Amino acid sequence: MCTTCRIGILGGGQLARMLAISGLPLGARFVTLDPAPDACAAAAARHITGAYDDRGKLDEFAAMADVVTYEFENVPAESVAYLAEKLPVYPPARALAVSRDRLKEKTLFRELSIPTPDFRAVGSLDDLKLAALEIGLPAVLKTRTMGYDGKGQAVIKSIDGIESAWARVGGAECILESFVTFTREISVVAVMGRAGEAVFYPVSENTHRDGILRHTVCRPGDPMQKTAEDYAGRLLEHFGYVGVLALELFDAGGALVANEIAPRVHNTGHWTIEGAETSQFENHIRAITGLPLGGAAATRVSAMVNFIGAIPPAQSVLKIKNAHFHDYGKTAKPGRKLGHATVCGDTVEEVEAGLEELQ
Ligand code: AMP
Repeated sequence: MCTTCRIGILGGGQLARMLAISGLPLGARFVTLDPAPDACAAAAARHITGAYDDRGKLDEFAAMADVVTYEFENVPAESVAYLAEKLPVYPPARALAVSRDRLKEKTLFRELSIPTPDFRAVGSLDDLKLAALEIGLPAVLKTRTMGYDGKGQAVIKSIDGIESAWARVGGAECILESFVTFTREISVVAVMGRAGEAVFYPVSENTHRDGILRHTVCRPGDPMQKTAEDYAGRLLEHFGYVGVLALELFDAGGALVANEIAPRVHNTGHWTIEGAETSQFENHIRAITGLPLGGAAATRVSAMVNFIGAIPPAQSVLKIKNAHFHDYGKTAKPGRKLGHATVCGDTVEEVEAGLEELQ
């Protein structure tokens, strides 16, 4: 593998684009399937415009690929199963099924003894009232599926807020979680190869606003590294995983509490392009094509800033020392991730100064 390897990616957004950019030097070629004709990955891949459940388009896509992966977790399970009859699909469908359902996800954390907030399944307003009594308030109500970037959730602070929270999630199947008072949010990006070998990137510390990741800082040597690796490793083993998996955790004063997994390359791992021995994108491609994995150590301190809704000119970013600019080539829209910048340096102070300039 991989000089003639053809990789199919379900989804044609920036993650697919960065996967393709990282895989081209390995000799891989890419095809993407996405309903958007102007999907930004099309700059680096052959692009098929089509719905994810269009069997004709899936056949066309499968005929152009030797292995399939995906860049988001809400691809229809039936489409993944259909493709998996024809060719290998990584990461495994069982990881996808867990990651798209918050109830399955939290139940698995519990089974694997990975600490997670207390939770209850909620299917009705009565369930919610009972769950709020059992768990206590404040608590966070989240839809079981289709929730991302803080969408489909409501914080319930007091009993008075129960009905409005239920209305806010539209009466969907939900999970009520206890509210975690955390000091910071961190994530660990892990990779497992086809032969079961695993590498772990240094954890990064993440700052969200309005439920969307704003920036990430990776200071190698984080005190929670070992614990985060241990938890991510249990998940990789459990799934018989192949590819990149991200685990998001709350640091509640030195105790980690798992929030969610993403069975794909992750926004909090973008810094690895310039700040690690091998990027998360390249390692994902290596993993799914059966190539040896590359090292995941950080070469420097790194920080990454997302450009959301608007993107600055390259000049204004690149005048900052050791800054790198990524423009995804997308049309600007409020709330849309349009690009990111990474600043690397030898010291935390240097990188934090660069981060300050970027915001
Ligand atoms: P999620 O969609 O689960 O990633 O949640 C989006 C954001 O809401 C997280 O990044 C946290 O900042 C916050 N959040 C989610 N769940 C909880 C929780 N159980 N306790 C406190 N904050 C939470």
